[in-house]
Amino acid sequence: MSSVAMRIGTSNPFAGLEEIVTENVPLAPKTWYRIGGPARWFVEPRSLEELQEAARRCTDNELPIFVLGLGANLLVSDGGVNGAVFKLSEEFWRRVKFDGNVVEVGAGADVQKLILRTVRQGLAGIECLAGIPGTIGGGIRMNCGGKFGDLGARVTRVQVMDSTGTTFDRLKDDLVFEYRSTNISAPFILSATLELEEEDPEKIMKRTKEIWMYKRNSQPLNTKNAGCIFKNPRGLSAGALIDQAGLKGMRVGGAEVSTKHANFIIAHPGCHADDVLKLVKIIREKVWEKNEIHLESEVKIWA
Ligand SMILES: Cc1cc2nc3c(=O)[nH]c(=O)nc-3n(C[C@H](O)[C@H](O)[C@H](O)COP(=O)(O)OP(=O)(O)OC[C@H]3O[C@@H](n4cnc5c(N)ncnc54)[C@H](O)[C@@H]3O)c2cc1C
Repeated sequence: MSSVAMRIGTSNPFAGLEEIVTENVPLAPKTWYRIGGPARWFVEPRSLEELQEAARRCTDNELPIFVLGLGANLLVSDGGVNGAVFKLSEEFWRRVKFDGNVVEVGAGADVQKLILRTVRQGLAGIECLAGIPGTIGGGIRMNCGGKFGDLGARVTRVQVMDSTGTTFDRLKDDLVFEYRSTNISAPFILSATLELEEEDPEKIMKRTKEIWMYKRNSQPLNTKNAGCIFKNPRGLSAGALIDQAGLKGMRVGGAEVSTKHANFIIAHPGCHADDVLKLVKIIREKVWEKNEIHLESEVKIWA
């Protein structure tokens, strides 16, 4: 091998994995916000073995690891991500297996599609997530949910993987699901087991539609956003605090505090991630000035 080839070979931490790894991939089209810069490396493994190999390369080369679901709770900075972004979207990661009222599901499965399948099977329990976009992996990481219930309540097992490629199961007894968080610290969520309840499909479908309508009426669902920007402080509504601070409709560049739900920041055409970040900072300062309450981010920010 010539010294030039060796240099290229050794400078690519994913040499030999070209079928699943791409360089400098724009992340904006892969997120709900449709803004932000590229990923230095973008990894789409087709099997557990490929995921393990790519993760080990990251560890050996000290590359930061990021895992992307549907990007529905994510703000990627304009400069993008200098690391490896993994997306578990190939067929293997979207598998769903029913066994009575128990469902085994891959981390890449789309939560909305899964709801429809469980309703058709006459299984109730996750229809409370109607209208919440995302994957099972992202939903577990965030313990997605709201006033009708959350995903964690139905999870009995989560298979995870650390950055060396070792997999292990986390079982119900040692899992803690709290408001928009879990005690899972492993970087990769691979699959989950959900325990649901048998019920008349028509009744579940009726409930699903009602919950979906409620969300459609209360949130700006047809805009570019990432759901709630801030967590609700204990016993309070972040949206109400932002509204009371007079910030509904406030704009920075292409970013605007939604007039429909003040805890949503909408990205208008031409919006940059930096506009959203500046607006987040202003909201925090104003709410602190008025109420001395610190608003904690719900949305994940990748920089
Ligand atoms: C219109 C709209 C409405 C919303 N309404 C709600 C709501 O009512 N309630 C609510 O809870 N949320 C809501 N959200 C936020 C979002 O839908 C949820 O947080 C959802 O669970 C995110 O899933 P995702 O797959 O898109 O995750 P992403 O946004 O891609 O990622 C979120 C986090 O999960 C991590 N992650 C994703 N996949 C994996 C994996 N396989 N392994 C390890 N980590 C992983 C990411 O690294 C990141 O830290 C809303 C968002 C939008 C756009």
